[in-house]
Amino acid sequence: MSALKPLIAGNWKMVGLPADLKSFADAMRAWSGGSRGGLLICPPATLLAAAVQAFDGLPIAVGGQDCHAKASGAHTGDIAAPMIAAAGGTFVIVGHSERRADHGETDAQVKAKAEAALAAGLTPIICIGESLAQRQAGETLAVVEASLRGSLPSGDLARVVVAYEPVWAIGTGLTANADQIAEVHAHLRKVLLSIDGTGAAVKLLYGGSVKPGNAAEILATPDVNGVLVGGASLVAADFQAIASAC
Ligand code: PEP
Repeated sequence: MSALKPLIAGNWKMVGLPADLKSFADAMRAWSGGSRGGLLICPPATLLAAAVQAFDGLPIAVGGQDCHAKASGAHTGDIAAPMIAAAGGTFVIVGHSERRADHGETDAQVKAKAEAALAAGLTPIICIGESLAQRQAGETLAVVEASLRGSLPSGDLARVVVAYEPVWAIGTGLTANADQIAEVHAHLRKVLLSIDGTGAAVKLLYGGSVKPGNAAEILATPDVNGVLVGGASLVAADFQAIASAC
């Protein structure tokens, strides 16, 4: 684990009703454990403001799962970065592989979203990752490097977080092993440092079937500065176990 304070981020995806938020917040409030990392929950947009209230007094930040590249306008169903900030959010995930797959989001669009997030004072968590076919073809490093270069906002990277999420490991129960994660993260760090001196400050998260049972090994992997957790972040006890693993 590097000197960067780890980030333990939960992505609830399109799951969660007010009652789920309440039981999660109650469990977090009753938690006697702790974490060396910063904690973040990205609930569905309908729960964003409620989550800010529910976590009041707890060391848990709240973030969005996506934002539009524009600050406002005629884009039915979309959410702008300033809206997330006004609701009390401080982070936003951009370029998650499910959005890239479901909505055809490109690296250029993800870059524009990350820039919109920064302009609104949010920290963007930029997701990149290879498919199984790309990994099997030996293309992993080239794919993630191209996606990273294409998705990063211009300028200062100090407020940017990058999540390496191999698409084949998301929601599948398959996890990249420590060697695979270390290889990709070392490459991403090298690329970040070559782009801008502030690349050293970028937290590199791993995401893909992170669970209580594998969190400690993943968080101890070189150049891993935290995790982005999907399914396991919905269960407070699992999120706590993952958070205490660093
Ligand atoms: C994710 O949604 O970013 C993710 C990594 O999901 P899971 O942990 O369920 O694989």
